[in-house]
Amino acid sequence: MPGFVASLDDDMLRHLVETLTESGQAICLYDAEDRLRYANKTYQDLFVGDYEGPFTFPAILRYAHQHGLGVRIDDGDVGAFIARTLARRRTAPRKSFQTDLVNGRWFWMDHTILPNGWLLTVGADITALKHDERSLRQAHDAALLASRTDVLTGLPNRRYILEILDERLGADKHEGSSLCVALIDIDWFKAINDRYGHDVGDTVLRHFSQVCRERLSPKISIGRTGGEEFLIVLPASNLGAAARAVNQLRTDFPPAIIGECMVELVYTFSAGVTAALPQDTRSSILQRADRALYAAKADGRNGTRAT
Ligand code: GH3
Ligand code: MG
Ligand code: MG
Repeated sequence: MPGFVASLDDDMLRHLVETLTESGQAICLYDAEDRLRYANKTYQDLFVGDYEGPFTFPAILRYAHQHGLGVRIDDGDVGAFIARTLARRRTAPRKSFQTDLVNGRWFWMDHTILPNGWLLTVGADITALKHDERSLRQAHDAALLASRTDVLTGLPNRRYILEILDERLGADKHEGSSLCVALIDIDWFKAINDRYGHDVGDTVLRHFSQVCRERLSPKISIGRTGGEEFLIVLPASNLGAAARAVNQLRTDFPPAIIGECMVELVYTFSAGVTAALPQDTRSSILQRADRALYAAKADGRNGTRAT
């Protein structure tokens, strides 16, 4: 028993429990046979309601479930829930856990087995904390997504697509499957900007991204690495299949539709494709893809070079 305990008379004990009750805690005592012997008002309101007995723990759980009280049971199977709970109950002299209730509130429950075998339960309302936790998690998820997303196109940004490449290169060594990458660069993009303006250039970038995402299978990742340059990561592919995937992307590539007059703007792109070698690093594989892309540009553009 921690601390110093003077003899507590019944009045003092009642004061203690009332104070805890006023602070919103749910308190109860079950005897060694798991019959409810004491419940303060909070516990009664939340878990017992107008129940008139018999006050065994399983009977109270069953009543609560039938009357929209107590613990939320995900699948609604109260029998299975009681069996699971009884299997865990009284397995340790002291334990704490969190539980959510039918009414949407969350409680932190403390179970203590007293020397006479009675079980003291003290539950503290942590609903506000759970809400804070949820908003923090949502804010964290949103921040993570933003840090990985290219604002203009909605594709993975440079940092994230390179992270994906690193991860796949690592997995590739493990699994011995072949990973391919394609570097893509839109042709004569500067001329599009110069002739139609930067906003039209942006529309073309968004259009290109959308068409790629629609045409590539979900297993294939594409990100924007810079200006009008994109990186495609194709897991479990070979050079021929990767080049075919890029050329299928090119087949009947739709024009971007520009402005209120819905002008069709036809544009093309060049691609350099390469397959991962066993000793490849991020920079060695990208250098090879870049050289292939340069060769595709030198070939007259609107084509794919594989190396
Ligand atoms: P090439 O066929 O050899 O690739 O020629 P290019 O004109 O496409 O290539 P270049 O690298 O000369 O031009 C790329 C242009 O992309 C230059 C830059 O101003 C423009 N750019 C970069 N980022 C953006 C952007 O976010 N929006 C727009 N509209 N233009 C961008
Ligand atoms: Mg470029
Ligand atoms: Mg270009």
